[in-house]
Amino acid sequence: MIKIDSDDQDEFLEVYMLHLPSEESFEFEYVSRDDWNNLSDPCPECSGTEFDHIRYEGGHYGHHENTVIQRNDYWDQKGSLYTVCRSCDEVLYKSLAYDVLEAEKTGAFDEFLDLDSEE
Ligand SMILES: [Zn+2]
Repeated sequence: MIKIDSDDQDEFLEVYMLHLPSEESFEFEYVSRDDWNNLSDPCPECSGTEFDHIRYEGGHYGHHENTVIQRNDYWDQKGSLYTVCRSCDEVLYKSLAYDVLEAEKTGAFDEFLDLDSEE
């Protein structure tokens, strides 16, 4: 995956290109603003305080009687994938993983990668 030098229309956007052996390529966008840190900060564009936010979260899973229990005091892993302001639609954070998830969900990879193969 290589970083593309964009024409800097958006100073917070980085674009990466993944070239596949089949000569096909996919673009992945990464957005991280230095004027916005987390959900407790208002949107730097419109001062809005409501966001659509996607995060990942994992922990230590086990069984107690017949119930699956998640313990995040043993081990956990979490982070942000995507945050957009609900008032002005500005993307405030976007992980590279978000475009990977979208490509997998929409089947964009399917004709190039055999994601179902078990090796
Ligand atoms: Zn906003």
